[in-house]
Amino acid sequence: MRRIIIVGGGIAGLAAAFKIARSAEAGHEVEFVLVEKDPRLGGKIATEQVEGFIVDGGPDCFLTEKPAVHRIAKLMGIFDEELPTDDSRKRTYILSRGRLHDLPDGVMMFAPTKFWPFATTGLFSWPGKIRMGMDLFIKPKKVTGDGLEDETLESFVVRRMGRECLDRLAEPLVGGVHASDPAKMSLAATFPRLLEMEQTYGGMIKGFYAARKKVAEMRKKYPPKPGAKPRTFFTSFETGMQRLTDSMADAAGRDRMRTGVAVTAMSRTVDGWTVDLDDGTRIDGDAVIMATESWAAERLVRPVDPVIGNALAGIEHSSSATVSLAFEESEVGIDMNAFGVLCPLVENRSLMAATLSSTKWPGRAPAGKVLLRGFVGGPHNQAIMAESDNRLAEIVLTELRQVLGVKGDPLFTKVFRWEKGMPQYTMGHLGRVEAIETRSAEVPGLALAGGSYRGVGLPNCVESGERAVSKVLGEWGIALAEDSEEQKRYY
Ligand SMILES: Cc1cc2nc3c(=O)[nH]c(=O)nc-3n(C[C@H](O)[C@H](O)[C@H](O)COP(=O)(O)OP(=O)(O)OC[C@H]3O[C@@H](n4cnc5c(N)ncnc54)[C@H](O)[C@@H]3O)c2cc1C
Repeated sequence: MRRIIIVGGGIAGLAAAFKIARSAEAGHEVEFVLVEKDPRLGGKIATEQVEGFIVDGGPDCFLTEKPAVHRIAKLMGIFDEELPTDDSRKRTYILSRGRLHDLPDGVMMFAPTKFWPFATTGLFSWPGKIRMGMDLFIKPKKVTGDGLEDETLESFVVRRMGRECLDRLAEPLVGGVHASDPAKMSLAATFPRLLEMEQTYGGMIKGFYAARKKVAEMRKKYPPKPGAKPRTFFTSFETGMQRLTDSMADAAGRDRMRTGVAVTAMSRTVDGWTVDLDDGTRIDGDAVIMATESWAAERLVRPVDPVIGNALAGIEHSSSATVSLAFEESEVGIDMNAFGVLCPLVENRSLMAATLSSTKWPGRAPAGKVLLRGFVGGPHNQAIMAESDNRLAEIVLTELRQVLGVKGDPLFTKVFRWEKGMPQYTMGHLGRVEAIETRSAEVPGLALAGGSYRGVGLPNCVESGERAVSKVLGEWGIALAEDSEEQKRYY
C-alpha cells in the first residue's frame, strides 16, 4: 500500500483526497492522510448558518461554464443541490463620480457588444466612449517569433480601449475579481483568451460580439432540458459553498483527515517522505501533495528543493476581508432588485464591491430579511486589514449607507478575514509556475496544487488537486483509467 500525504484541506487538497479515494475504490493500492492546520476543512470556502441566514465568508459561487465542480458534484450526488442565480433580479451597479450607474446591457468583460445601451449610459464620458469605439480600428499587436507576448491588464485595456475604460469598467470588473492590481496583473496568466481574441478578431468589440453570437447559437442548439434549473453565469449550492467541500471530505473519508494540526517541516527519506506536525508527531509516506497557499508551501519545500522554493517565493498574495450584514427588509431602505455594486479604485472608497447576497442567491435570508456582503482590502488597501473586526464592520456599513443608501441597523454582522488569501498573478507568473512544475517533475513523490498556480477559480483548484494525484500515481505506473469515464460525465 502506498501512502500519499496531503498538506492542506482546502478544495485543492480535498479534490486530491477524493481522487485518491476513487483510485483505491478502483482497486489501486493507494491511500492518503490529509493534514489541515485549521480546525475546519474547506480552506477559503467557509459557510456559516447564523439565525437562519446562510453566510458565505469566502467564495460564494463558481463559474458555471467550467465543468470540474459540476463533475464532482455529480460523482458525490449533490448536483441537484446546485443553485443558479435569480436572474429575474439581475442588475449590477457601478459607482462613477459618486453616482450609481447600471452596467450597460451587452457589456462583456470590458467590451460593449450592444450599441444603444453603450451610447446612452452615463457611466462613461463621450470622449471615453469614442476612445473605446476606436478598438474597432486599432490594429492588433504584432506577434513576434516567440508567440503572443504577455502584458499587464492595464497596458492591454489602455492600448485597446483607453484609460477611462480601464478606470471605470475593467479595473472593478476584471481586476476586482482577482483582487489584483491591473498594473501588475499578467494577462497571459489570468485571461489568455483576450490575447488570442485580439489576434483572431482584430479587437475586443469584434471578439466579444462574436462570443455573444456564439453563446446565443449554443443556447438555441442546446436548450435547457425540461424541468432543469436555468444555467446562469455563476452557480452556488443551496446551503452555501461549504456544502461542496463538506461533501468532498465525506466522500473521500474524514477518518483519514487530521484537522487543527499544522505541518511544520518535511523531508525526504531513503524510501519516501516524512512530515513533522506541530503536535510533535510525524507521518511517513511515499509521496507528498502540497496543497497549501504557495507562501505556506515555500517554507516547507525550500529545505527540500531551494529552486522550487525560490519560484514559490516570487508569487505574491494580497489580504482581504468580507463583511456580511443582515437587515430587516422593511428597514434596509434600498431597492433590493440588484446583484450588487462595484466601486472602482478611482472613486477612492474603502469598499471594493458589495453583493446583495439574498437577491443573487435565493434562500440566503429568512423571509422578510435581507443579507448584504461588502468586500474590502486588496492590493491597494492592505492597511485596512490592521483594523479590528468591529471597525471593519463599521467601515463597510458606513460605505453601504453612502454608496447604496442603506438605512436601519444590522441585525448582526459577520467578518471573515483572508490574510494573504488571494494570489497575485503578476507579470512572469506563468514562468514561475513552469519552473515549479518542471523542477517538481524531477522530484519523485512531490506535487504542488492549489489556487496559487494555474487559476484561482474553484474548478481550476479541483483540477489542480487532481493533476497532482495523476503526477504522483503516474510515477508509480498507475494510470487512472477512470478519468475518461469521469470526462464523459462533464456538465
Ligand atoms: C474572499 C474571497 C472570495 C473568493 N471568491 C471566489 C468565488 O466567488 N469563486 C471562485 O471560484 N473563487 C473565489 N475565490 C478564490 C478561491 O476561493 C480560492 O482560489 C480557492 O478556495 C483556493 O483553494 P485552495 O485549496 O488552493 O487553497 P486554500 O483554500 O487556501 O486551502 C489551503 C489550506 O492549507 C492549509 N495550510 C496552510 N499551511 C498549512 C500547514 N503548514 N499545515 C497544514 N495545513 C496548512 C490552510 O489552512 C488552508 O486550509 C475567492 C477567494 C477569496 C479569498
